[in-house]
Amino acid sequence: MELNDSIIAITGGGRGLGLAMAIHMGSQGAQIALLDRDTDALDSAVGLLKEKGITAQCFAIDVSDEGSVIRTFDAIESAMGPLDGLVNNAGIVRDGLLVKAKDGEIVDRMSLSSWQQVIDINLTGVFLCGREAATRMISAGRHGVIVNISSISRAGNQGQSNYSAAKAGVAALTVTWAGELARYGIRVGAVAPGFVETEMTASIREDMLKRITAGIPLHRLGQPENIAQSVAYIFTNDYFTGRVIECDGGLRI
Ligand code: NAD
Repeated sequence: MELNDSIIAITGGGRGLGLAMAIHMGSQGAQIALLDRDTDALDSAVGLLKEKGITAQCFAIDVSDEGSVIRTFDAIESAMGPLDGLVNNAGIVRDGLLVKAKDGEIVDRMSLSSWQQVIDINLTGVFLCGREAATRMISAGRHGVIVNISSISRAGNQGQSNYSAAKAGVAALTVTWAGELARYGIRVGAVAPGFVETEMTASIREDMLKRITAGIPLHRLGQPENIAQSVAYIFTNDYFTGRVIECDGGLRI
C-alpha cells in the first residue's frame, strides 16, 4: 500500500507509540485519524501533527466499548472518507503476580478487575476495532491493512498474567485474520515491541528498568520511532501478512 493519501486510523494515538506512528506515516503523506479515550492528549497530539503539516483529525473512543467503536468508525468515514488502514495500538498495563506470599502467608493476588480491564482494552478492543475496520473495507470494496500491536510479553512474562494473555491473543488474531481476510485484499500484520521509552515504561521501577536494559543485547530501550518504522514496513510491503515483527533490541524474556 502507498502511504501517500491513504486514510489510517490509529488507536491510542494521543501519545507514546501511537503518536510516533502518526508522525512517521503522516510525514509520508498518510491522512491520520487519531483515536484515544484521553481527549486532552488527542487535542495536543493533533495540534502537533498539524504543526508538522500532517493532515489529521481526532476522535474520542473507548476501544473496549462496542457502541463507542461503531460510532467512531462511522464518524471517521463521514469526516475523512473510506478507511485504508488501522493500527490497533491502544493498550494498558495492570501488572501484578497471580499470587504473592510472604513467610507462608498470602499477601496479594491479581484482582479480577486488573485481569478484566487489560483483557477488555488490549484484546477485546483489538477484536472490536479490527472487526469494524474489516467490515468497512470489505463493504467499500477496498483493499486495506490492519496492524496489531502485540508485545514481547506475548511469550509469557512474570507479573503480567493479564497482559501476556492479551498480547498472545493479539498475535493469534493476526494469523487468523490474515487467513480469513486475504480473499478481500486485506493484509494483517503485527509488531511485538520490546521495552520502548514511553509513559508506559516510565512506570517501571528504576532498578528493574536498569536490570532489563542490561539484558538487552543493544543495551538500551527502543525509541517510539523504531516501532513506527516496523508498522510502516507492514503497510508498505504488499507480500507481508499473518506474521509478527519482533522489534526489541534482541531481548529474550
Ligand atoms: P501509552 O500508555 O504511552 O499510550 C497508550 C494510549 O492508549 C494512551 O494515549 C491511552 O489514553 C490510550 N488508551 C488506553 N486505553 C484506551 C481505551 N480504552 N480506548 C482508547 N484509548 C485508550 O502506551 P505505549 O507505550 O505508547 O503503548 C502503545 C501500545 O504498545 C500498547 O498496546 C502497548 O501494550 C504496546 N507495547 C508497548 C511497549 C512499550 O515498551 N512502551 C512494549 C510492548 C508493547
